[in-house]
Amino acid sequence: MTAQTNTTTTTTTVSAYAAPSAKAPLERTTVPRRPVGESDVLIDIKYAGICHSDIHQARDGWGEGIFPMVPGHEIAGVVTEVGSAVTKFAVGDRVGVGCMVDSCRECENCKAGLEQYCLKGNVPTYNGLGKDGEPTYGGYSTHVVVDEAFTVRIPDGLSLDVAAPLLCAGITTYSPLHRWQAGPGKKVAVVGLGGLGHMAVKIAHAMGAEVTVLSQSLRKKDDGLRLGADHYYATSDEATFEQLAGTFDVILSTVSAPLPLDKYLGLLRSEGAFVNVGAPEEPVSLNLFSVIGGGKTLAGSMIGGIQETQEMLDFCAEHGLGSEIELIDADQINEAYERVLTSDVRYRFVIDTATI
Ligand SMILES: [Zn+2]
Ligand SMILES: [Zn+2]
Repeated sequence: MTAQTNTTTTTTTVSAYAAPSAKAPLERTTVPRRPVGESDVLIDIKYAGICHSDIHQARDGWGEGIFPMVPGHEIAGVVTEVGSAVTKFAVGDRVGVGCMVDSCRECENCKAGLEQYCLKGNVPTYNGLGKDGEPTYGGYSTHVVVDEAFTVRIPDGLSLDVAAPLLCAGITTYSPLHRWQAGPGKKVAVVGLGGLGHMAVKIAHAMGAEVTVLSQSLRKKDDGLRLGADHYYATSDEATFEQLAGTFDVILSTVSAPLPLDKYLGLLRSEGAFVNVGAPEEPVSLNLFSVIGGGKTLAGSMIGGIQETQEMLDFCAEHGLGSEIELIDADQINEAYERVLTSDVRYRFVIDTATI
């Protein structure tokens, strides 16, 4: 069959769950999806993960939200139409979409495969404006139209439900672990065992590193060890910081609570790196001698580029790594939001979009 005869030429209306205004509960609605353009694919969404940042944005915690808002940037589904110029995908392919759906594609970062740091700003999957000036709507929906350049392949070895959270939680942790060379002979600490942290543990373990979880309490210790951690310590216990001083090559912080950075930097070996993927809303302070002594690095990281996202999915498939999920129906989204806010999820809620 030829793609052209199959291509949707008009805007379609699809079912979705949206926050009609800031802080309002999400409710069932419909949103427009653009016609399938030359380089677009139409995706029948099967599953969408709930990321903590969905809640921030739906409740306008970061300001300037575009409402109605359809959150969701952990999308897994199947291609049902392709544009005439599409080369990477065919109807029936299993695909994913993460946190961005476009970028300028011309700046030095885009050319280097770092579209997430596009110098003109990437186009977020939701709560943004596309190049056509129209609002983007995310994955809490039945269908989405995305340029093939921002669509990735989900390998056959991964079920779509446990693959969905990899599109944000997976790449957010894989990218810094890869960049900071987690692997055999390296000691990696993961701060926080939540949606991001549980993937960091699985991925760092699969990379061959010796993995330690640093969590507020020992409440999830059994889970942490089962997911691949070699050690598990409570940060509420002062002895942890004495016992582990100078231990780690890399510390990956997945928490958004403000941390006493000087204490955590003291856990690094010389020339080790403390990498933040979670951030508190308030500025933090530290004594710069905490990084000067020992030549340490305080770093940050935000999701990953498209090529690296594909590498992450291939790596996860090869090592059998999916997210630990609780599958929910769409009418449980608001309840799930409340549970995420109290860390009452092990470890990612995923919406069965057939219920939207
Ligand atoms: Zn996210
Ligand atoms: Zn760019």
